Amino acid sequence: MIRFENVSVTYDGASEPTVRGVDLEVPEGELVLLVGPSGVGKSTILGAVSGLVPHFTGGTLRGRVMVAGRDTRTHKPRELADVVGTVGQDPLSHFVTDTVEDELAYGMESLGLPPAVMRRRVEETLDLLGLAPLRDRPLVTLSGGQQQRVAIGSVLTPHPRVLVLDEPTSALDPAAAEEVLAVLQRLVHDLGTTVLMAEHRLERVVQYADQVALLPAPGQTPVLGTPADIMAVSPVYPPVVDLGRLAGWDPLPLTVRDARRRAGDLRERLAGQAPEGNAPAVADAGTPRENAPAVAD
Ligand code: ADP
Ligand code: MG
Repeated sequence: MIRFENVSVTYDGASEPTVRGVDLEVPEGELVLLVGPSGVGKSTILGAVSGLVPHFTGGTLRGRVMVAGRDTRTHKPRELADVVGTVGQDPLSHFVTDTVEDELAYGMESLGLPPAVMRRRVEETLDLLGLAPLRDRPLVTLSGGQQQRVAIGSVLTPHPRVLVLDEPTSALDPAAAEEVLAVLQRLVHDLGTTVLMAEHRLERVVQYADQVALLPAPGQTPVLGTPADIMAVSPVYPPVVDLGRLAGWDPLPLTVRDARRRAGDLRERLAGQAPEGNAPAVADAGTPRENAPAVAD
């Protein structure tokens, strides 16, 4: 559904390409998580899918990025809106109207659809994302999770087959993040939407990924694999993976629940031992805390 063929992107004025030799394939209907240290080029890769790179950012894209059969270098973001929806970290800064319903309708304006179809799609989207009770609300009065759901809704009305999300839960509290991830799950499972998402809060998202694409370092080509395989080699990983690596578990746990189920032996081995210094007790190692080993954007 998304295919990168030997892609490199060089921003204007940069002496080296920001990403190079990128060959990557995201199959239809999968949720693929793009991970890597800050500044490695995740947003650049996502931008190449939505057409923001190079059309809005400038710079030179070499190679080819195909999304649902369209070359993003020869199609502007507006000409891709019916195949790819793009959502960023800060929905409020991208809203163009004032209320939920108007914002959903706006996403279709450039498509020239008949008014009856537009109305129907707004209703569908309000229902799908649980936004119907909020339809008349001013966008500024919504919670962060509600705003992010509206941002997703506003790119869904053209019925894109691909969604690209850049750090969609990074600015949200845990409850709002769950709200947004539940919506994404529904799109992937019920509608078969293909999702490519970057998110540095890996503890929130890694469990939902079908595959993980890792950009290990600037200029290196992404490695695609199962979440557990990639987490075993990734320089960024959530606390629960840190615990699993320390304990030598294979496959690595991706959720606190996974870790608990595997922790029996470890619990016995460590019974009666006091934790060293100020280190947290092992029983606490899987509880949510800042994503210590990951470098936040
Ligand atoms: P990530 O999302 O992984 O943090 P980015 O793709 O945002 O990485 O950035 C990768 C590199 O490209 C960074 O060094 C950044 O400064 C540079 N960069 C990103 N966007 C632009 C731009 N529009 N113009 C010039 N340089 C950019
Ligand atoms: Mg980024």
